[in-house]
Amino acid sequence: MPYFEMSRLALKWAMSRPPTTRYPFQPRRAIAGSRGQLVFTKDNCTYCTACALKCPTSALQVNRAQKKWGIDRLRCITCGYCVDICPKDSLTLSTSHGTPSVMRSRESHKSS
Ligand code: SF4
Ligand code: SF4
Repeated sequence: MPYFEMSRLALKWAMSRPPTTRYPFQPRRAIAGSRGQLVFTKDNCTYCTACALKCPTSALQVNRAQKKWGIDRLRCITCGYCVDICPKDSLTLSTSHGTPSVMRSRESHKSS
């Protein structure tokens, strides 16, 4: 590459804004339509177990007798099948990806 052309390109990249953001110092902007963390709202849930039966990765566990709903976040692939099948609109996919984790722990919600 000729020296002049190389200098022109180097100057152009030095003067332009970087295509990446300074995450985590700069908050991440979600892309419209992107799928993030599954959100459970226990108010309407009837613990019918439909979401757990539909989940392809067995990430969900629902106990109807104990009124307990749980998720293993490391198993969830954010496919949205459980959101589509829930008859009570208790599940939604947010655009947030939550806090990264290296430990496997099951998140549980229980109604009294
Ligand atoms: S499908 Fe909906 S109502 Fe049924 S257990 Fe799952 S979250 Fe609750
Ligand atoms: S989004 Fe998909 S993988 Fe995640 S809990 Fe729901 S059905 Fe399972």
